[in-house]
Amino acid sequence: MKPYLQLSGVNKAFGDFVALDDINLDVEKGEFVTFLGPSGSGKTTTLMIIAGFEDATHGAITIEGQSLAGLAPQERNIGIVFQNYALFPHKTAEENVFFPLQMRGVKKAEGLRKAAEMLELVGLEGFAHRYPKELSGGQQQRVALARALVFEPDLLLLDEPLGALDKNLREAMQIEIKRIQKRLGVTTIFVTHDQTEAMSMSDRIVVFSDGTIEQAAPPLDVYHKPTTRFVADFIGESNLLDATIRSADEGLADCPILGQVAYRTEGQPRLHDGQEVALLIRPEHLKLSRKPLEECRHASMTVETIVNYGDNALVIGRKDTAQIRVRVPGADVVTLEEGDECHVNWTDHAVFVLEH
Ligand code: ATP
Repeated sequence: MKPYLQLSGVNKAFGDFVALDDINLDVEKGEFVTFLGPSGSGKTTTLMIIAGFEDATHGAITIEGQSLAGLAPQERNIGIVFQNYALFPHKTAEENVFFPLQMRGVKKAEGLRKAAEMLELVGLEGFAHRYPKELSGGQQQRVALARALVFEPDLLLLDEPLGALDKNLREAMQIEIKRIQKRLGVTTIFVTHDQTEAMSMSDRIVVFSDGTIEQAAPPLDVYHKPTTRFVADFIGESNLLDATIRSADEGLADCPILGQVAYRTEGQPRLHDGQEVALLIRPEHLKLSRKPLEECRHASMTVETIVNYGDNALVIGRKDTAQIRVRVPGADVVTLEEGDECHVNWTDHAVFVLEH
């Protein structure tokens, strides 16, 4: 099937500085794709090029096979929501939402009816006549969302739309945006540097680093089968330990810290004997115990730091030159103290190999 939105070989240079280097991405119709990456990795620049606010230095962008080259932002039929809402302060909520329809020559009566429908969809019926300053941050963001959707865009672009909201409101809005996006089936690109937000909302996460795409995959694949060390490190907590492949056929590696380790072979890249790799073990796949657990592989470690989160805790231990991070249920840390000697236990399935 042909992709709905396609970015092919997109490059962007600002003078000598290369902000985007060969970005290639296919997005399906109705997909919710999140651009995730550290500050300065190129997420917003890519979004701005799709929106038409920036020109690519090289490369092409198409929607349903039609090039967007040469089209001004207002000619692209793309809805955009920014972090700072960018509502017109002298227009009411209803007038703000009506505005893009007015620009498209829609008659007032019909436009206001559509604006009212859209305000209802975002849960703001009854707020139509309020001015932005009379609305909370979350309500203003809903108006911005309604305004971006009212003209039935081909694409919805959301640039850190929840960045200015507090944690609870942010979580409520994540659910709300996902509900509306599903209901309308609008193809959406969401930019964030919050990995929890990316994990919970997306069909696919595109991880950016230094102007390139590191990996584009469903959230659980990005988490459990990262293709690069950068992705493994950036998403979630991780233990990354250097190792050498002893037998690719048997799925065995030698790790100076853990000894001989068997690893998960399913979903792994093709490896060869003697290859230098990194072993990824997520902290929640490790178990702590006073005595080694019989059914597991194990190593001893000394507890260095305990970080409590209430329902769970992160125990950071030392084993020779390496730190090992173990996620434990909150109740379990009551009996642990810094300086304790204990065992860290894992099963072979918990070990994933990374080539870089
Ligand atoms: P953030 O999460 O902080 O918004 P980002 O991943 O969206 O970051 P971009 O805003 O796309 O990053 O920026 C990518 C790189 O391009 C950065 O190094 C930035 O400084 C640079 N850049 C962006 N716009 C310009 C510009 N107009 N002129 C020069 N450099 C720019």
